Amino acid sequence: MRWVIGAALALGAAATAQTGRSVDGAYLARGGSGQDWPAVGRDYAEQRFSPLTQVSAATVNRLGIAWYADLPDARGQESTPVMVDGVLYVTGPWSKVFAFDAVSAKPLWSFDPEVAGSKGVQACCDVVNRGVAIWKGKLFVGALDGRLIALDARTGRQLWSVQTTDPAKPYTITGAPRVVKDMVLIGNGGAEFGVRGYVSAYDAETGTRKWRFYTVPNAEGKADGEASDPILKQAAATWSPGQWQQSGGGGTVWDAIVYDPELDQLYIGVGNGSPWNHGVRSGGAGDNWFLSSIVALDPNTGAYKWHYQETPGETWDYTATQPIILANMAGRKVLYHAPKNGFFFVIDRTTGKPVSADMFAPANWATGYDPVTWRPLENPEARFYRTGKPFLAAPAPIGAHSWQPMSYSPVAGLVYIPVNEIGFGYIPPLTPGDAQPRALGFNVAANMGEGALPRDPAFIRAAIAATKGALVAWDPAARKARWRVDYTTPWNGGTLATAGNLVFQGTALGEFRAYAADTGKQLWAMPVQSGVLAAPSTYMIDGVQYVAFTTSRGGAWDLTSGYAGLPTKQLPSIARLVVLKLDGRGRLPPPPPTERVMLTPPAATGTPAQLAQGKALFGRYCSVCHGGNAVSGGVTPDLRASGALADTAFWKSVVIDGALHERGMVSFRSVMDEAGADAVRAYVIGEAHWAKANDGKIMN
Ligand code: CA
Repeated sequence: MRWVIGAALALGAAATAQTGRSVDGAYLARGGSGQDWPAVGRDYAEQRFSPLTQVSAATVNRLGIAWYADLPDARGQESTPVMVDGVLYVTGPWSKVFAFDAVSAKPLWSFDPEVAGSKGVQACCDVVNRGVAIWKGKLFVGALDGRLIALDARTGRQLWSVQTTDPAKPYTITGAPRVVKDMVLIGNGGAEFGVRGYVSAYDAETGTRKWRFYTVPNAEGKADGEASDPILKQAAATWSPGQWQQSGGGGTVWDAIVYDPELDQLYIGVGNGSPWNHGVRSGGAGDNWFLSSIVALDPNTGAYKWHYQETPGETWDYTATQPIILANMAGRKVLYHAPKNGFFFVIDRTTGKPVSADMFAPANWATGYDPVTWRPLENPEARFYRTGKPFLAAPAPIGAHSWQPMSYSPVAGLVYIPVNEIGFGYIPPLTPGDAQPRALGFNVAANMGEGALPRDPAFIRAAIAATKGALVAWDPAARKARWRVDYTTPWNGGTLATAGNLVFQGTALGEFRAYAADTGKQLWAMPVQSGVLAAPSTYMIDGVQYVAFTTSRGGAWDLTSGYAGLPTKQLPSIARLVVLKLDGRGRLPPPPPTERVMLTPPAATGTPAQLAQGKALFGRYCSVCHGGNAVSGGVTPDLRASGALADTAFWKSVVIDGALHERGMVSFRSVMDEAGADAVRAYVIGEAHWAKANDGKIMN
């Protein structure tokens, strides 16, 4: 814990003394004060729709910078700013929390849970955090290492901290907590490494655990003594013997946890299977409840109420963890969901039955859903473990829609979805080792090494061109897109809708934009020097409306995408909180000079056998942080430019001895011997030479 400016507390707005004490269930159910943004999704319905209209389609061209603040860690900023009682709260990488006076920009306090750097290697998708929850003057944050921490919202002082996960297992927390009935709800991630998912409720006052719901049966067939026990007896019939019995099966609840005050129900979005490969995980048999499902729970006890499984027998990392929005459609209580698998679901909240399921982005794993059984009509080629052949799939594991929040305007009747159009080759295990779980790296029982792009400039250019994004305005009643804006790159930011007939979204290529909510006409844009991942929020204080968002690059796509993500990698990752208002006159500092990666590799000496081994090891253990083909996203070091390539002893001290473990680069001794480490070095040297010779043919 570190204090930045304690004395500034006294200087905050008069309202600061309240610091969220009025935020309770009734407050979140009615949408806060109407001027604040008291929870990441704004209110319990999580529509991310603001009733404010000062910034509107008519005035938006007057938007300018009110203030900005640079943040310390230039990795993925995924947090939606929360504003209540004049204080703006934002979280950053490594689960740090920052509080600012929302008008004057004065930093009030910051909190660093001091997560060990070595935990970073267990974060599939960067060391991110998606925000805080406020409740009766307390602030809650989930730490990457599995702690749930309560702070005094006024001072940032830690009130309590509980370990919500087994520290010996590769669990992480990146999602924002939610608070319901004086209970703090939190899930976790880690399904790529091998964990068993669950969501837990803790007493907001004391941190005492109230209930837990596991999303996957107990592998030993035992009762857990938890709220999930009765339904997991039924769920067990949907699992067959397989590697899930060692891995835990996955099904992590790493983002969406939404409370429905109208029906007193909780909805959780459940993640993918562990490992991905259904053949290895569960012998290729069974739907594997509750993977890739929306599950409704009784918030009082954690007891099961209903579920709908969007992707039965999940095998493509098609999580259902994406944000859930509660709405009313023609008098019917429904929820809207656009999960990774590319289909937009309208689900009746009362019965748990789908109302519709329609493709919102290119998807070739299924053609649609049976309107009676609501099961997907699958493409048989998609089950790569069954055919034994690679399947070039859309969507990719990144998802047609990932965590980037969508928003809903009840005025326009449209849902604004940040869409990714990315292909991915699912390759069955080529060697028995591919399917075996290891202590480090992704354990997905698919071949990751062959996922690197071939050394062919034309192929790479085509892959870059085919990798796109869009903002899709989906009409849930008409079951189709009403309008869309195409982007040349994926991984654009979350969205915010307002009663000013506006949709705000930042782009991966460094603009913050406003569109007309009803027509999609672009009304305004501002260059912001870096990518934008997170969703904006908006609030009004003393008659002035503000729009707040963060910039940076990072997250899963920037870490892993390799050549396919090259266009966004031309931008620096600048960690910054930016706040706008009408007629704001602030200016961002000049952007840093563009840094080109200088490739000066030592002579290539690897034998063909070494290069093949290095490629396989790199794909399995290195590519998920350092990028396919060793093309870094600029968020982690570009190994092709590393001085360690020429220094065998130093390379080994890092890879085998863990010399840089405090920065997250732990020892890989448990999965790689010295010959293996040297093979990886030879492979990276080879990629560096090839890139140096061919760079100009790939990007101008
Ligand atoms: Ca996953």
